[in-house]
Amino acid sequence: MIITFWGVRGSLPVPDAHTLRYGGNTTCVSVEVGEKVLVLDVGTGVRLLGEALKDTQEEVFVLLSHLHADHIGGFPFFAPLWESGRNVHLIDYPREERLWTLLELFNGIFFPMVPEMLKCNVKRVSEPPMPYLAAHGFDIQQLPVNHPGGAFGYRIEDHGKSFVFIPDNELNPPEDVTTTREALVAFCREADVLCHDAQYLSEDMPMKRGWGHSLVRDVCDFAIEAAVRHLVLFHHDPDRTDEEIDRILEEAKALVAPHGITCTAAYEGMHLTL
Ligand SMILES: [Zn+2]
Ligand SMILES: [Zn+2]
Repeated sequence: MIITFWGVRGSLPVPDAHTLRYGGNTTCVSVEVGEKVLVLDVGTGVRLLGEALKDTQEEVFVLLSHLHADHIGGFPFFAPLWESGRNVHLIDYPREERLWTLLELFNGIFFPMVPEMLKCNVKRVSEPPMPYLAAHGFDIQQLPVNHPGGAFGYRIEDHGKSFVFIPDNELNPPEDVTTTREALVAFCREADVLCHDAQYLSEDMPMKRGWGHSLVRDVCDFAIEAAVRHLVLFHHDPDRTDEEIDRILEEAKALVAPHGITCTAAYEGMHLTL
């Protein structure tokens, strides 16, 4: 599988001279398996993915971790939606008592168009998502994680390699634990790549405790406990400059390298082939 990072920023897009190297677009990661591409979240980074997919025939599957604006806000600007002949599968997201679809953004309020104007062959998927994706060739598992309002993490396997995507998760939440640490560790166990929320530093606490994101230090401890092979720091804070992320990465490497773990800070355009 080929994993590409199109948006790595948390909470808010930050187009800024100080964020150019890692990038200012919000969450979007693609996973290509064969001729199919799974799009994990459609923050503003999805616009870049759309550009890259032009002139390809790949079938697109869009899956969400949750509905916060930094994970859905780029969707109307995803070029394949406006290409005739393109097959796009939109996986519904379970929101309290009902299923929510990205098509709800096209309601004339959030975006000045209606779903009937889309050019692609759009398929809304309201059936259980993991079996649906499995039927289309994706070996994938889902786990609820600890984030205000709820969110999911995903684990994708292909040819014996594994990629875990947990963009928003608080590893040590003060209350309302949705998923225990044991369950999270089991889910991430020995992953080839773990992409995990690493938004905060010690100085952000205690104010941001309970906001649903993790300390870099805690993510490093977690990666060691789960014995992953490669930790990707993700969902960078919008206030973090490139130089600050460089420093964070060096500190994280010093923590995990003695345990044989590679560490990278996600940046726009980063490719991983597993
Ligand atoms: Zn987020
Ligand atoms: Zn969130």
